[in-house]
Amino acid sequence: MYTVFAGGVGASRFLQGLVRAVPPEEVTVVSNTGDDAEMFGLHVSPDTDICVYALAGAVNPETGWGLAGDSFAVVDQLQRFGYPRWFNLGDRDLATAIHRTRLLREGWPLHRVVADLVRAWGLGCTILPMSDDPVRTRILGPDGEVAFQDYMVRLRTEVDLRGVEFAGATAARPAPGVLEAVAEAEVVILAPSNPIVSIGPILAVPGIREALAGARGIRTAISPIIAGQVVKGPAAKMLEALGHEVSALGVARVYRGLIDLMVVDEQDRALAPAVEQLGMACLVTDTMMTSDERKRELAEAVCARARSLGRG
Ligand code: GDP
Repeated sequence: MYTVFAGGVGASRFLQGLVRAVPPEEVTVVSNTGDDAEMFGLHVSPDTDICVYALAGAVNPETGWGLAGDSFAVVDQLQRFGYPRWFNLGDRDLATAIHRTRLLREGWPLHRVVADLVRAWGLGCTILPMSDDPVRTRILGPDGEVAFQDYMVRLRTEVDLRGVEFAGATAARPAPGVLEAVAEAEVVILAPSNPIVSIGPILAVPGIREALAGARGIRTAISPIIAGQVVKGPAAKMLEALGHEVSALGVARVYRGLIDLMVVDEQDRALAPAVEQLGMACLVTDTMMTSDERKRELAEAVCARARSLGRG
């Protein structure tokens, strides 16, 4: 069994490779729901949907989010009624949000809703939201708090970041199956996702960090930072603002004590000794997932190395 802590774009690329490297039935994804929000009266789960669409082969390859070939007629039309246009929710993507919202209003817990999406898209793996309870990532800026989607999309991350909060986290419980998936996996993988706002919220749900700390399998993280830079998104900016070194070593320090194996890119080979000094093994490999083949090769390399470290 392979359990993956997942954000959005970076995670989904890795997952596309993982389900080709190992049987999909052996993969459980623990999805970040800190990015969830209410938009146009609908419950949107951006990170979960990115993973579902990517695993279904339906994600927009240019953006890494949303559905390939989607149109935006509904959000355009909503402007007539005074709705803001900054949040891009495609017409076909809206169908997912409508379905999710209806089921939640009928009283379904979020994990059942996600399981229904997985079934409807015919995926072979399991996807669990980190929690059925609302946890909302908030960004603290100079003028107070903003919701995560406001920060990411409306403000295009152009805010002086002073801190990050996960509202609701202390009262949240892990969704059914999450703790077992962490405790029982042969390999637990922190995907190459934003450590602060994609993996951070998952670890903030009481019980999940502890389950990871005590997991019997090999706990692995893949750096989303290559040669001191992000492939995409605000992770570098966030790490820096919060006082972390912007490098694969900085990411390894964030995860220190929680992982056994850190995966860094070939370009960061020189950092390997310092990573190992933190008390973890270091795999140096090509982590730039530019093709289906490279995604699969990365997943194969990570799983092979993790299994070789296995506690048997
Ligand atoms: P988000 O929620 O959509 O921002 O997605 P994630 O948190 O899952 O992923 C964002 C991170 O993925 C960024 O920090 C990127 O640097 C990283 N990322 C994206 N593509 C790649 C890749 O091909 N290789 C590696 N190592 N990281 C990647």
